[in-house]
Amino acid sequence: MRWSDHCLICSGQQELVVNVRERGPHEQMHDYTRVLFCCACSVGELRSFSYDGFVVFGEEDEVMVWSSILSAADVDTLRSAFTCSTPLAGNCECAEHVRAYDTSLRVNKTRLPEHGPDRHSPAGRTTAVVELVDGLAEFR
Ligand SMILES: [Zn+2]
Ligand SMILES: [Zn+2]
Repeated sequence: MRWSDHCLICSGQQELVVNVRERGPHEQMHDYTRVLFCCACSVGELRSFSYDGFVVFGEEDEVMVWSSILSAADVDTLRSAFTCSTPLAGNCECAEHVRAYDTSLRVNKTRLPEHGPDRHSPAGRTTAVVELVDGLAEFR
């Protein structure tokens, strides 16, 4: 599912800045929430990806992707403020990883269409911000 981390604007490979949470990949399941950054576009994003191989055909999409824009400044803030020494460890359960994941759930993200001409279009995306609260970086 590597395609999913490509930049929505230029389709280039993005840098993985923080792997907020990841389960899998397993054969029938993979989901993650990641902060990605595209150097070419100087735009970051908070992306949530979910693959569920058990959904009944026609009832729901197997793959669902949500995205919200993060400014380059906010990505820089996250790089310097993220207190965990293993930001790419999506299974880490430290206070910083937990705070980032919990707050990422509340962020208003845009569901990216999985089919049709607008597949994974960047149009209409919401913007998330990074804030420091009690010494931990979180999403708003
Ligand atoms: Zn790009
Ligand atoms: Zn951690």
